[in-house]
Amino acid sequence: MNSKLKAAAKITEKLSQPDEKSDVKQDGIQHKKESLGESLKKKWKNKVQHGQYIRNIDRQRISDEDTFLWLSKGDLKAETESEILAAQDQALQTKYYATKILNIGRDSKCRLCQQFDEKIDHIMSACPILAKDQYLKRYDIVCAQIHFNIRKETGVQLDKKTLV
Ligand SMILES: [Zn+2]
Repeated sequence: MNSKLKAAAKITEKLSQPDEKSDVKQDGIQHKKESLGESLKKKWKNKVQHGQYIRNIDRQRISDEDTFLWLSKGDLKAETESEILAAQDQALQTKYYATKILNIGRDSKCRLCQQFDEKIDHIMSACPILAKDQYLKRYDIVCAQIHFNIRKETGVQLDKKTLV
């Protein structure tokens, strides 16, 4: 375990120790947690490459709590969560990342369309080749899941035909 993880574990352990003797002390711990959280968020935000996601969230005035709710549920496997977080932080090895950050390539253009830089955002939602088919399939799957959840929550019967 590297020293940063050890330090983080130590801080977490200190902050999570219950102290029922004094409410003032609990308030102090809560204040320290909030200030530590703000400090870490500020460091994350100031990172040129990896801070893009959090800067975009702040710019769009999206709730931090709702944005990261999926992380607190524990529905996904750790590997899946880490892949999603790496994608959000622009840390997957795209051709753009390899060329501009790692300096191990010359061509940063998308492998599929060869028109635009191969960045995470391009792959996720802007590639004209993927737009023809893959984005539509993803859209249909998400809509079907939303439809299923709404019908389930409202108690509307589902038949086999609607489950497609
Ligand atoms: Zn492309």
